[in-house]
Amino acid sequence: MKPLNPIKLKNGYAHIPRKRFGQNFLHDEKVIDQIIAAIAPSPNDHLLEIGPGQGALTEPLIDSKSKLDCVEIDQDLVKFLNERYCSSVLNVIEKDILKFDIKILDPQPKSLRVVGNLPYNISTPVLFHLLKSHELISDMTFMLQLEVVQRITARAGEKNYGRLGLMLQYHCEVEHLFNVPSTAFTPAPKVGSAIVRLKPYKKKPIEAKDPKILETVIRTAFNQRRKTLRNSLKALLRESKKPSSVDLSLRPETLSLEDYVEISNALTGD
Ligand code: SAM
Repeated sequence: MKPLNPIKLKNGYAHIPRKRFGQNFLHDEKVIDQIIAAIAPSPNDHLLEIGPGQGALTEPLIDSKSKLDCVEIDQDLVKFLNERYCSSVLNVIEKDILKFDIKILDPQPKSLRVVGNLPYNISTPVLFHLLKSHELISDMTFMLQLEVVQRITARAGEKNYGRLGLMLQYHCEVEHLFNVPSTAFTPAPKVGSAIVRLKPYKKKPIEAKDPKILETVIRTAFNQRRKTLRNSLKALLRESKKPSSVDLSLRPETLSLEDYVEISNALTGD
């Protein structure tokens, strides 16, 4: 593997981006401004930044005077951030976000604003991990691989439609805000990037009686994409009532979220 060039940090540190931590640092001021404008942080906000890295987004977030917690896995970057910023303006927690319970931050219900240029190698597990605490989150604004943003926002029948989009759209309002060119990062990622906003619903427009069953139905259906729902869900449907208004001769990518909720509710019973 070709070694990556060290980046000179403002305080004299040299940090070599670590591929295993998905480190693609933002350096383009215009893009950084655009992301901060999309977040629109205010002094009353409680923000959690995932992967502050060298502080590209962190510094303007500090300027907004909001309460700011950060979770960073790379101990060298944690050391750098702690030396650069006073703990009264920035709380840096050295931890793997996938093992971090956001309840520890003691946010008010529906108050936490989660942001970050996420490490692309673990972005889907991070999203599912955060969904487990959706009741504490007000909104999430993330840089992700463009293809992942397309999966998150895809509707029935569209390319990239599947489990990730359905589960996130069940819990959140989702919006693809804008694309970001690879030239905005060091090193430049080999894939396209985009900013997405996810806003967990205060009251869901459509509610499954048991979200775990909804998840099982969606996972089972998309594990066997080429089969009709009748075939892929055979084992689940055997014991129960069939959903009355969903056409089970269709394939999984043609059914809407409402259809999946209806199937799941038929399986859940009263
Ligand atoms: N926010 C910085 C920026 O925009 O320049 C860095 C973004 S970089 C794409 C991803 C950051 O997430 C890195 O700082 C990396 O060390 C950190 N990271 C990677 N895996 C992580 C994990 N499991 N938990 C917390 N932070 C992680």
